[in-house]
Amino acid sequence: MRDAVTAETIAIGSELLLGGRVDTNSLYLTDALSVLGIEVRYKTVVGDDCADIARVVRTAVRRASLVVLTGGLGPTLDDCTREAVARVLRRPLGRSATAHKQLTAWLRSRGRTPSASQLRQALIPQGARVLKNPAGSAPGFLVSAGESWIVALPGVPIEARQMFDDGVFPWLRRAHSRRVPLIRRTLLTYGLAESELERLVVDLVPTQSGIALGTLASPLGVTLSLTASSRPADKRVRRSHEATREPPVRELIAQSLAAMRARLGSLVVGEGSATMEQIVGEALQSHALTLATAESCTGGLIGHRLTQVPGSSGYYYGGVVCYSNEAKTALLGVDPALLQAHGAVSVEVAASMAEGIRRRSGCAIGLSVTGIAGPGGATPTKPVGLVYAGLARSDRPTITQQFQFHGPRDLIKLRASQAALNWVRLALLDR
Ligand code: ATP
Ligand code: MG
Repeated sequence: MRDAVTAETIAIGSELLLGGRVDTNSLYLTDALSVLGIEVRYKTVVGDDCADIARVVRTAVRRASLVVLTGGLGPTLDDCTREAVARVLRRPLGRSATAHKQLTAWLRSRGRTPSASQLRQALIPQGARVLKNPAGSAPGFLVSAGESWIVALPGVPIEARQMFDDGVFPWLRRAHSRRVPLIRRTLLTYGLAESELERLVVDLVPTQSGIALGTLASPLGVTLSLTASSRPADKRVRRSHEATREPPVRELIAQSLAAMRARLGSLVVGEGSATMEQIVGEALQSHALTLATAESCTGGLIGHRLTQVPGSSGYYYGGVVCYSNEAKTALLGVDPALLQAHGAVSVEVAASMAEGIRRRSGCAIGLSVTGIAGPGGATPTKPVGLVYAGLARSDRPTITQQFQFHGPRDLIKLRASQAALNWVRLALLDR
């Protein structure tokens, strides 16, 4: 394999070009490859056409040392990844005894006998190594193409993942053990815009050491990243580190990250893949507190997100989705007069909902959310995206918070759920 390892992914499948289906395989592969320090430089999506596939594979092997294909390994006539790769390699397809055996064993274990078209799946380019499919029938393969390698995985995401994890990752790790990995660490922040955040921390980044600061905004906050590139230019950087006895890049990144955390304080939600719901869960757990939710405009999204975390029953009681005024009264005891006087989207109702759910659940904390998710429902004084949250606690007075979000309905709901969870996080930091 070439010295600087770069990769490309090629997702094969006409359905991926028709809309409605997205190539998620490449996301998984990019993540897994970055763990090994392998940078993905191009991603291609191509339909089930043999000539088109051959063309993109040919281009990819010229540019990258590792080309990972997914899809087109099935038994039907539109599955032509095998033929396309054979064409690029100028090698014939040959029946692989290993692939044949695996395929028949898989089908037998499901009470089926392989048909002629299914047996086509045992044809792989000559010289290729078969990759076992632990979750399906189609075998994958791994084959060298000059200075590059081609890996062909099935299209079904679960099969592609398992085959990559079991058959490709260990091989790549061995092949790369002497290479400098791409080091990347991230911080999830909440509360400041991308540009403000960048301005706050940019002086903490040791750019002279080849470390790059990245910012990525989403409805869930802004992710700051520090990445040390593994491109050849870094060899110079590495050599200069050795000469000046500067700490290695990994340590410089850790120091920079710690300085950012110190400066940003409570704006930092967590590190790496940590999510808001995980961090809130950890905070509740560490304070031995329980939480119950009363959700109107978020329709249970906060409860859903909290319960995405395994073990959340230790601190999350549950909640009610009280979308209508009637539900707010019947399930939480919100006074109809309050609803009448202030409207469902109001400070008063948010507070009453939070107190209602806390009282009825017996939890330490009751969280409520009520708002106008749109696109209709706005009034002259209450625009779409106006959301109130309430926090009732056993040991202090109830507080409320007003938010104004923008965007379509689903984004307003997502943003409201994130803001409310962040508000709980900040309240717990205060303790
Ligand atoms: P296999 O090689 O496993 O036989 P295939 O391309 O022959 O794959 P299809 O029936 O075309 O199989 O696709 C199987 C499923 O996997 C479909 O639902 C398809 O949309 C999905 N899929 C294929 N490629 C991708 C991808 N890159 N990302 C996400 N889903 C994908
Ligand atoms: Mg396909």
